[in-house]
Amino acid sequence: MTDQKPYQHQIQSEPVLRIGIILPIDRRKEITVSFTNPSQYKIDSKSPINLTSSKLKFSVDDGGVKIIKTNAKFDGYGITVHNVPAGRGFHWEKNIDVTLSGNVHIIPNKSGLLLINEVPLEKYLASVAVSEMSGTCPTSFLEAQTIAARSWIMAAAENKHSELGIDACNDDCCQRYQGMNQMTSESKAVCNSTSGKVLLYDNEICDARYSKSCGGLTENAENIWDMDFKPYLTSIYDSPEKKIQVDWQHWFRAAPDVFCSPSYVDESELHKYLGNVDKNSKYFRWSIKYSQKELCELLSKKINVDIGRIVKIDALNRGYSGRINHLYCEYINLAGETKVLELNNEYDIRKTLHPSFLYSSCFMIKMNDELIEFYGAGWGHGVGLCQIGALGMALDGYSTEQILIHFYSGAKLKQLY
Ligand SMILES: [Zn+2]
Ligand SMILES: [Zn+2]
Repeated sequence: MTDQKPYQHQIQSEPVLRIGIILPIDRRKEITVSFTNPSQYKIDSKSPINLTSSKLKFSVDDGGVKIIKTNAKFDGYGITVHNVPAGRGFHWEKNIDVTLSGNVHIIPNKSGLLLINEVPLEKYLASVAVSEMSGTCPTSFLEAQTIAARSWIMAAAENKHSELGIDACNDDCCQRYQGMNQMTSESKAVCNSTSGKVLLYDNEICDARYSKSCGGLTENAENIWDMDFKPYLTSIYDSPEKKIQVDWQHWFRAAPDVFCSPSYVDESELHKYLGNVDKNSKYFRWSIKYSQKELCELLSKKINVDIGRIVKIDALNRGYSGRINHLYCEYINLAGETKVLELNNEYDIRKTLHPSFLYSSCFMIKMNDELIEFYGAGWGHGVGLCQIGALGMALDGYSTEQILIHFYSGAKLKQLY
């Protein structure tokens, strides 16, 4: 789909996506692939490779390799790629085996191999729906999640890896796609029932972003990323009233009955719905505590400067949801000089103030001589659909369309194909 210059709303048939499964940044010189049924595939490569074994190793020396499905009717489990990175750069990073349907291309790149899976959009979405959350979620949630994921990839507004000629990668950086192993009968049914449906705003497919939990108020896109204001990605109060509460501090302390709060989704039940994404934690309201020494060590490592003491941490600017997008930190280095560190976006703030990643940049700061505490709300950037809030709505009986319209103000559903 990358070459077609995509995705206008006039599109009338299901596109085929190119998803990066192993990326050059993974620096792989070798990739092991196994086949459920080798007789259904052929290999195109410079030097001939016979598909006699069910397990093959490809290396940079093979040049480019294309593994092509020869029987269009064969809908089995296909090709398993071993040791695929999942959660790159996060503390839950691990290597998993990913089973793919469709064709696979292995392309040598300067720093390592690139493995691309060509997969029809609906098959991709059936995997994304349950890789993002678990298949035990109510149908209206899974449908809303699938329509949002379909819209996001078809809008192709982010296009984070265009230089690699792929539509998205397999990971949290784009949408979590863990292949056919993840698909369930529920997720396939959801793709069938919503097949070809997208969100439109002003005749354009919505760049329908989503995150785990807004914490009570969703965020405006332009407060998180360097992008223009989008009417359907603006802050809403994640409650039946939907009105914007201007005073986020009041709302934060009151922790009212919003859809992503424990009044709609019992935190002890969350694990069942979040599946393997869950970290067994509280996400609606959380706190983290550092001693002076701990935070000095952490920041020293993150910014590569020796910090002796942190004098002050302050939010210089927040979005509507309370997410900090400009943070000020004054510290004294080992030479005794006072220095200032400013972080200018929510991603850097979350990356810098935690050994792996802070749940969100929506937090209050309490500091004394010895302790620095962050009291936070939500998980993720908070823009667009709040997944735990959407789950709360689904559990409360809201329909797929009601959920989508709640989070994407002014958007409309449209059947493309
Ligand atoms: Zn990506
Ligand atoms: Zn929410």
